[in-house]
Amino acid sequence: MNNDIVEPFPDSQISDAFRAHADSGLPYEISESELRILQDSSIGPQHPAYRHLPPFLSMHDAYRRLISRHQGEESSPNWQAARRRYVHAMSAPYGSLDLPIKMFNDLDTLIFHGDLKHRVNMRWETCRRAGLCRPYETLLGITMAPTSWSIPRIRIRINIDVDWRKVPRSQLIGTVVHEMLHAYFYVHCGVAGHRDLVMGGRMDEGHGVYFYAAGRQLERRWRLTLFDPWDPTGLC
Ligand SMILES: [Zn+2]
Repeated sequence: MNNDIVEPFPDSQISDAFRAHADSGLPYEISESELRILQDSSIGPQHPAYRHLPPFLSMHDAYRRLISRHQGEESSPNWQAARRRYVHAMSAPYGSLDLPIKMFNDLDTLIFHGDLKHRVNMRWETCRRAGLCRPYETLLGITMAPTSWSIPRIRIRINIDVDWRKVPRSQLIGTVVHEMLHAYFYVHCGVAGHRDLVMGGRMDEGHGVYFYAAGRQLERRWRLTLFDPWDPTGLC
């Protein structure tokens, strides 16, 4: 019960060590100030960079919004530039752990209509914590809803304890997009984003009909792995 008022995943030294900076690691076109906004866990409603949530939609309307494509949006210079960076990053043989952080805004532009920018805090984190429902080394990522007392923005944590050298880049970035999809439903549906339609099988309330339908389409379009082929429930 006390767990409810203790901040889950407060920033650790390990998380700080894996912080992405514009002038180090893999060169990627994103500013240090954008990286700071993305990785700063303390930004809340009083901060100038904080972006309020839009009026809520139903799960169905949020899903329709996600999969609908607009010619104007996709022909814009910003979208095209993000796509060029995406194609390059996904085809280059090298990579680094700062890549997923640096790609966040581009993934948001390309896939989520820019709805997540400044509304999400993302970092690498060690998930060796008691109380997780599964062994820490099989958890790839986790998304947490904002709370009024300790989590000012939607929070995504990618698990640094996983040996990502053994995981294809399409699954590393797919894991980020999987977590961003949870964040997207939080942005548009609030807690209802965790009340998806469950139709049995491996579905749960966070991974129901709308989540799977959207996720499968994103996998095909962007050639990513959002659902672990060996353990479809391995992502949170
Ligand atoms: Zn999930």
